[in-house]
Amino acid sequence: MTVEKLGFIGLGNMGMPMTKNLIDAGYEVYGMDVNEESLKTFEAQGGKVAQTTEELVAQTTFIMTSLPTPKIVEAIYCGEQGLIETAREGTLLIDFSTVNPSLNDELADKCNAKGLKYLGAPVSGGVIGAVQATLTIMVGGDEKAYERAKPVFDVLGQNIFLLGDRSSVGTRIKLLNNLMIGFYTKGVAEMIVLAESVGLSPDKVYEILNVSYGQSKIYTRNYAEYMKNDDFNPGFSIDLLLKDMRLAQEMAMEGKVDLTFTNQLIENYDKISKEGYGHLDISATYLATAKNAKEEGQ
Ligand code: NAD
Repeated sequence: MTVEKLGFIGLGNMGMPMTKNLIDAGYEVYGMDVNEESLKTFEAQGGKVAQTTEELVAQTTFIMTSLPTPKIVEAIYCGEQGLIETAREGTLLIDFSTVNPSLNDELADKCNAKGLKYLGAPVSGGVIGAVQATLTIMVGGDEKAYERAKPVFDVLGQNIFLLGDRSSVGTRIKLLNNLMIGFYTKGVAEMIVLAESVGLSPDKVYEILNVSYGQSKIYTRNYAEYMKNDDFNPGFSIDLLLKDMRLAQEMAMEGKVDLTFTNQLIENYDKISKEGYGHLDISATYLATAKNAKEEGQ
């Protein structure tokens, strides 16, 4: 069996370590990004740079994307000289980005009409999961396309789910996951602000809650990996979380349910983002919460 050459667009916090794992596993990987620094890092880890989608599709019929917003995903797939226009027949396109479910379905329809295969495959597990190849991958789409992609998924992740024919099904579940991340992140932030306000040591509180019902993966991630080290570089930025929570809110509208706390939480993240924290890691929700809690408590 010949090993497919791979293409990857979006060499960011997730895409860079994902491509590294593919290269280390022996794949020839062609990468594209608008950021020149990222391209240099990608080359240094053994990748081959493609400057345009035309260059990319000339090299490979297996292309993945991990891009920040639905708008950018749409442009890369549907724009002039985009993937759908330029990819060769039979090309498999896989989107790891978190987008709106309707975009997954629209891209799948457009790909089908052009003889291309498309999988919506959002991931969870964060940068650490991308680095350690332990991602959860939630795939929606055709089973044959999934089988073709499976060896690549196996390099990138640990828990791989084919969830149904519709390419948006994985995204729907991913949005539920990120809604929970939004709640946990704010909960952890408020709890630590409260602990500190009454003189408790956050380290001691973590030691105890981590073996109690207050424990969560997000508590460990946000506290032990970021806040404790005073490191708020993303990771997963507040703006990306806000995007995902808004997508979950749109899904609630589609389901005709009104989620009071989700709505309030989105307002709060929006405020935090506008206060200048949006580009920082989600753990920086603590910094904004502490500042606002002190100001409002005066
Ligand atoms: P990021 O902003 O770090 O990376 C995105 C990359 O895309 C950047 O390198 C950027 O330069 C590049 N890019 C932007 N526009 C481009 C274009 N037009 N052409 C080519 N490249 C372009 O984002 P990320 O944290 O890696 O997230 C990527 C996706 O994965 C998002 O949809 C996010 O919601 C999702 N996600 C992120 C995490 C996380 O923990 N960071 C976890 C799971 C899912």
